Amino acid sequence: MSYPFTDTHAHLYLEEFRDDKDSVIRRAIAQGVEKIFLPNLDSSSLAGMNNLAEQYPGTCYAMIGLHPTSVKENFREELQRIEKELDRDHYIAIGETGIDLYWDTSFLKDQQESFRRQIGWAKQHSLPIVIHARDSFDEIFAILDQEHDGQLRGVFHSFTGTREQAEKILAYGFYIGINGIVTFKNAGLDKVAAAIPTNRLLIETDAPFLAPVPHRGKRNESAFVIQVAEKMAEIHGLEVAEIAHRTTENARTLFSKAF
Ligand SMILES: [Zn+2]
Repeated sequence: MSYPFTDTHAHLYLEEFRDDKDSVIRRAIAQGVEKIFLPNLDSSSLAGMNNLAEQYPGTCYAMIGLHPTSVKENFREELQRIEKELDRDHYIAIGETGIDLYWDTSFLKDQQESFRRQIGWAKQHSLPIVIHARDSFDEIFAILDQEHDGQLRGVFHSFTGTREQAEKILAYGFYIGINGIVTFKNAGLDKVAAAIPTNRLLIETDAPFLAPVPHRGKRNESAFVIQVAEKMAEIHGLEVAEIAHRTTENARTLFSKAF
């Protein structure tokens, strides 16, 4: 029996999948993953991402945005290139965007500006926003406290924060995206994950990164979202089918253009 899983975050257009993306997607579909959402990185990833979305209508859906680790000296030109895409009806969300201070702190001001611009796009086009937060919750919350208007909707993807940070996200009305990190013994995310109500939970892979146990350390793929669902089912004391059902309903509410 298969359930309708939704992988709300996967970079299946990257080099890691060059030789076998079709079998990766077929494998996901065969195991009940009905929809896969593709977050953009920068202007260089657009063509590959869009090709995949066009090749798999009804399964793969593209987002549009500039990733915080792609914010460099040329970020204003990058934003301009990406902004041109906004008129296409094809994109289901703005993302991924946010702030990342783990890899590099030297572009903080530019990352903040880029994040604000993309929040503006989300508001203008009534699209949900997909937020990447790494060592940057305070900086992101400071911007959202100003920009949040009751209309802005979104998800903190690959969430690894504290319970207080989760509560702050829930208070904005945002969703929380959980991936394979929840299966890592040393991550300690299971306790926080237990406090996330299932009506605000999304599951994702972030493939090719962060493969869940028992695939940890290997290339991740969309079929492995099932291991994330299994772990969340265990944490919440629910059937896997119920987690699949609830998280897909949440995906339908947030990413309504993909349904
Ligand atoms: Zn990502």
